[in-house]
Amino acid sequence: MAESYDLAVVGAGVVGLAHALAAARSGRRVVVIERDPRANGASIRMTGLVTVAGHASGAMWRRARRSREIWADVCAQAGVRIEHEGLAIVARRPEAAIALDAFAASEAGEGCSFYQPDDAHALFPQFKGDIAGVFWSPDELRVEAKSALAKIAAWLEDAHDVAFKWETAVSGVADGEVTTSRGPVSAAATVVCAGDDFRTLFADRLTGAGLTKAKSSMLRVRVEDGYELPGAVASDLTILRLPGFEELDGVEALRARLEQEQPEHLRHGVALLVAQSSDGSLVVSGSRELSACPDPFETQVVEDLILEEFAAVLGRKPKQVVSRWAGAYAYSTERPVVTDAPSDRVRVVVAASPAGASSAFAVAEETIAGLFGKGG
Ligand SMILES: Cc1cc2nc3c(=O)[nH]c(=O)nc-3n(C[C@H](O)[C@H](O)[C@H](O)COP(=O)(O)OP(=O)(O)OC[C@H]3O[C@@H](n4cnc5c(N)ncnc54)[C@H](O)[C@@H]3O)c2cc1C
Repeated sequence: MAESYDLAVVGAGVVGLAHALAAARSGRRVVVIERDPRANGASIRMTGLVTVAGHASGAMWRRARRSREIWADVCAQAGVRIEHEGLAIVARRPEAAIALDAFAASEAGEGCSFYQPDDAHALFPQFKGDIAGVFWSPDELRVEAKSALAKIAAWLEDAHDVAFKWETAVSGVADGEVTTSRGPVSAAATVVCAGDDFRTLFADRLTGAGLTKAKSSMLRVRVEDGYELPGAVASDLTILRLPGFEELDGVEALRARLEQEQPEHLRHGVALLVAQSSDGSLVVSGSRELSACPDPFETQVVEDLILEEFAAVLGRKPKQVVSRWAGAYAYSTERPVVTDAPSDRVRVVVAASPAGASSAFAVAEETIAGLFGKGG
């Protein structure tokens, strides 16, 4: 007789694994169905920064805080190394300093600090040149995405008895049954976590959600041996991307100034985020191209713009670009997480922001509580 599950999860990216964990922890028998031999989408291409600062106060901030808690627990249990903690946003202009200072003083900036230039230079000697201050959030966690995803999947299988069906594409979902390229799978409930593939399953229902794709170009670079960042590092351009900053003093003036001074960076969606790996190399993101069908080709122009901002903040050029890659994630102009309930027993969850991995575990708890009742 065919195996039967309480929950089938479509997609083994971080959103799918988070749902598998939430359901397994509530005692459900779970199967994850993934079309590739291993996770290969946004979740392994990302910077791997679990962000707390930068979200607007309210639901997304609470989700980010809760997810951060779960990430820390999962990393400890699954043997995922936390590469570093904390996020520094370097204000290169006074307008950025005003916004960062205001954010640190707001509810969503709980636990964060803003340092004026003298203190900032003393505390963060890594940041060079004329700086107008540094914002510091202690809560961010950074994981090496590709190995983290593989370890979390293996841990779910070993410690939580989650079944995985790799190289198995799902072509249909109905109450009680999932149709796959390897035959039907019987499951009382299904959660579809297909990432930026929002045109296959329940595409008709997702058309009104303002979904498109965001492509980001990424680099891994080497600098001199022994160089150490204090945590992840961002700069003025990044502030314009953070929803928690939208209404703050200084942001409109910063935007206007960046339009004058760094128009090409804005045109290519360049926003610096640098994170460090245990071998000392730095992961540098990146750019953002919003498109229904992002261009698969990488241009030198974008790389040069990213490295120009890198040099302006860190006062050095990389010795070597070790690797380059691009990733695409689902993006909605309307909301950071798109959810749908095609039936009582089926949910669709699309993380639709550049910080999808940062809220995934909390979103999954909400989905599973909604599907199976309050206790999950
Ligand atoms: C370059 C880059 C940097 C980023 N940096 C960060 C960051 O630092 N912090 C952060 O929080 N977020 C970051 N993000 C965003 C984050 O990576 C995504 O929001 C998140 O990984 C989305 O996870 P997911 O599981 O929904 O999608 P994915 O990881 O894309 O997984 C979806 C999976 O579903 C599978 N699938 C789809 N359809 C089917 C089907 N029909 N049958 C079977 N399987 C199917 C796919 O093969 C895929 O493996 C970044 C994204 C990118 C691209």
